[in-house]
Amino acid sequence: LLGADGVVRPTIFAEMSALAARTGAINLGQGFPDEDGPAVVLDAAVSAIRSGANQYPPGMGVPVLREAVAEHQRRFYGMEVDPEREVLITAGATEAIAATLLALLEPGDEVVTFEPFYDEYGAVIALAGGRHVTVPLEPPLFQADPERLRAAVSDRTRVILVNTPHNPTGAVLDRETLQLVVELAERHHAVIVTDEVYEHLTFGVQHIPVATLPGARERTVTVSSGGKTFNTTGWKVGWLTAPPALVTAIVAVKQFLTYVNAAPFQPAIAAGLRLPDEHFRGIAADLAHKRDVLSAGLAAAGFGVHRTDGTYFVVADAAPLGFDDAVELCRRLPELAGVVAVPLSAFCTPEYALRTASLVRFAFCKRVEVLERAAAQLARLS
Ligand code: PMP
Ligand code: GLN
Repeated sequence: LLGADGVVRPTIFAEMSALAARTGAINLGQGFPDEDGPAVVLDAAVSAIRSGANQYPPGMGVPVLREAVAEHQRRFYGMEVDPEREVLITAGATEAIAATLLALLEPGDEVVTFEPFYDEYGAVIALAGGRHVTVPLEPPLFQADPERLRAAVSDRTRVILVNTPHNPTGAVLDRETLQLVVELAERHHAVIVTDEVYEHLTFGVQHIPVATLPGARERTVTVSSGGKTFNTTGWKVGWLTAPPALVTAIVAVKQFLTYVNAAPFQPAIAAGLRLPDEHFRGIAADLAHKRDVLSAGLAAAGFGVHRTDGTYFVVADAAPLGFDDAVELCRRLPELAGVVAVPLSAFCTPEYALRTASLVRFAFCKRVEVLERAAAQLARLS
C-alpha cells in the first residue's frame, strides 16, 4: 500500500481531483456528479437532522433503511431478503467490501477478480493477507474469456469478487459469465462478493444481479450504495445483503471499522429507494445522454472510443492521437486541454497495464455543458 519510496500514496482519485483543483481543469477523473440528486432525498436528510437523528444509529443500520433495501430488492429483482437478518448498512460500498473481505479471508486465501479492477479491491485483499488472482477483460468489449475464468478459480479460491456494471470499463457482465462464476464458486466452495453500485446506471442493457441466478443466493454477498443512484457520493451510505451467517461474520468486523455512520442520511436514502420507477429510469436516461455527448466529443477529438453500457465511465484510446502512454498523457492533460482523466493502468496489474497503456478513463457524470466544454478543449489535442 506504500509507494516504492515508503510514502503513503493517495488513491488515484484523490490525486486526480487534487490535480483538477490545483489547475482549474475540468475534472473528468474521479467519478462524482456535479449536480444534486432528488429534492425528496435532500429534504429527508435535513428533516432527519432537525428531528434529532444525530446520534449513533443501530449497528445493523436504521430499520427504515434496511426495510427499504429489502423492498428495493423485491421490486427490482424479485428477491426476498429479511431486513432484520440479511441486510447490513455500511459506510459506503467501500466499507461493505472491506468488512466482507476482512471477515472472509485467511492469510494466503485467493480472491479472483476481473481486471481492470476498482482500486480498493487490490488494497483490501493485501490488507487481509490474501492473494489477488485476476482474469483479464480484453478490450474492446471487456467481456471475460470463460477459459481464463475457469483456470483462475481453484480450491484455493475463497472469494470471487465480481463488479457489474463494471468500473472502469463500463461493461455490463453477461448472464453466461455470471452463471459461470456461480458454478465455479459452488464447485470450489467459494463465496461470491458482487459490487453492484452502478446497478441502476445501465444504458439499454439489463443489469443481472448475481444473487438472482440459480444456486447463487446462499453463497453471495451483494454490495450496493446510495451514492451513485441519488448523487450523494459524499454521504457514504452503502449496504450489503447476504445470508444471515455471512452477515453475522461481516458485522463482527464492521463494528470495529466504523461501528456505524451517517445516522440522518440513512433515512434519507430510504426515501430515495422508495422513489417511483420513473426516477430510476430517469437517471439512466439522463446518463445515457451524457455518455453520448462525451463519447461523441472524444471521437471528434481523435480518441478511439470504447462502447460503454453502464456506470459513469467511458474508456478511450489515446494512441490514434499519438499518445502511447496514458499515465504521461493524464499528467499533462490539464496543461494540454484543461481536463483531468485517469489512466486505465490505475486499475490494473503491471502486465495488463502494458497491454492497455494508451487507454484513459473519462467520467461523464457531469452537466452536459461541462462535457461539451471538455470535448471542445480536448479537440486541441489533434
Ligand atoms: N465500488 C465501485 C465499483 C465504485 O466505483 C465505487 C466508487 N464510486 C465504490 C465501490 C465505492 O462506493 P461508496 O462511495 O459507496 O463507498
Ligand atoms: N468510485 C469513484 C471512481 O471510480 C471514486 C471513489 C473514490 O474516490 N474512492 O472514480
